Amino acid sequence: MESSNSKPHVVLVASPGVGHLVRVLELSNRLAANQNLHVTTFVVVESHSTATAGTTGESQLVQSAKARRLKNQDIIELPPVTHDTNAPIFTRLSALMHEILPTVRSSISALKHNPTALVVDIFGTPLLEVADQFHMLKYVFVSSAWSNALLLYFPVLDKEAQGVELGELKEPIKMPGCKPVRPADLLDSMMDRTKSDYKMLLQIGLTMRNSDGILVNSWEELDATTLKALREEDGYGKVPVYTVGPVTRPFDNDHGHGHDHPLLHWLDEQPAESVLYISFGSLGVLSPQQITELAFGLEQSQQRFIWVLRTPRNCTSTMEGLDYLPDGFLERTQKVGQVFIKWAPQSDILAHGSIGGFLTHCGWNSSLESILNGVPMIAWPLFAEQKMNATQLAEDYGVAVRPKVAPSKEIVGKEEIEMMARNVMEGNGKAMRARVKELKKSGEKALAEGGSTFNTLSQLANQFQLNCQRQKS
Ligand code: UDP
Repeated sequence: MESSNSKPHVVLVASPGVGHLVRVLELSNRLAANQNLHVTTFVVVESHSTATAGTTGESQLVQSAKARRLKNQDIIELPPVTHDTNAPIFTRLSALMHEILPTVRSSISALKHNPTALVVDIFGTPLLEVADQFHMLKYVFVSSAWSNALLLYFPVLDKEAQGVELGELKEPIKMPGCKPVRPADLLDSMMDRTKSDYKMLLQIGLTMRNSDGILVNSWEELDATTLKALREEDGYGKVPVYTVGPVTRPFDNDHGHGHDHPLLHWLDEQPAESVLYISFGSLGVLSPQQITELAFGLEQSQQRFIWVLRTPRNCTSTMEGLDYLPDGFLERTQKVGQVFIKWAPQSDILAHGSIGGFLTHCGWNSSLESILNGVPMIAWPLFAEQKMNATQLAEDYGVAVRPKVAPSKEIVGKEEIEMMARNVMEGNGKAMRARVKELKKSGEKALAEGGSTFNTLSQLANQFQLNCQRQKS
């Protein structure tokens, strides 16, 4: 390993899954935009793809990132790791990251330039111990500020609620200085303390407190109250918090499609802000019954749409996603809608002027992509921290409407779907669109020279530089 290089060298590790990969690769770009840093990103992939194989864009994302990489940037795919695919997500990914630890250690040790700082996402916390060995600073890159507050506060909640399941509490859960969390909005993994995922989450919350900082994919102006609480109140571990967002993918570059994609050509033919885009991210799927209701609701709403449809999971039948649509649906809607079963160029779609609304599962990347393109939402959360994101989008930011029932547990009926589609495209949509455009401006301002995120990234670069000097002395 060369230690003579004077540039600080930041090493990022992306855990498996498109959602993590998207934001870690994009953060790597942001950091590499500073020519005085060298940035290496390790990508961890699972050896057996899950049910979404063929519809996820993991390899395209890596290829496109490699094609666009800057001179001071390296992207390295680590050998695929095997794992127990039946284990719950936190348990599975934590086990996988433990397994990859020796490879990460030897890969860091083989780097040409002396590493200064390590950045992992929340599943990568088992890797933080490697940073100590190389005297690197260590950071955890998380999604929203509010869900991060919950994770950091989770060890306290666990102690306070001894003997009671958090999901069974009757009152919203109070966290110092933060918006309380409704028990129904908690992550599913927090609902049952006997489960391995509960213990994994607890461990992640504790490990994060021992890092040199949390990098939040948000900006100061968006989440001022939560950020203040994280920095000043007791219970969150007083770990430094840095806002590095909005970290979203730039449009027009997705997977090398540019504008040459049939969905984008179709959008070119549609009136401005007239199309509802529907997607449940890289992993979200609906039940067969819910697909049917959504189809009827959309048809009744008479709105234009693009629907990224995935085949329901755990179905014993050989039916594909399209087979669950009501008879004649595709024919009846062919003039106003597109149903797409492959990986869609989402950031290009959301950036298109014909898009007027987004029915989303509220993954944090999707939520920010919508905000940064000024698109109001129908918030339809399914799992993980998506319910908290949905609450925040609807109640705090005022940029989304929500179904009355929890879509992860109950069926959202066609009448309500029709109403929400009309609402976001015609009714409340106008006020929400104005609000989301304000947030878009505020996010862009944070990124621009002199903006809050711009300044935070400089502050971090200074920390990297200081550690680089310390390592040499
Ligand atoms: N995405 C995409 N095409 C698709 C589905 C998803 O480009 O067909 C992208 C989307 O733009 C986002 C990411 O995949 O950047 C999904 O991340 P998010 O946090 O929204 O949800 P997750 O997939 O992690 O649940």
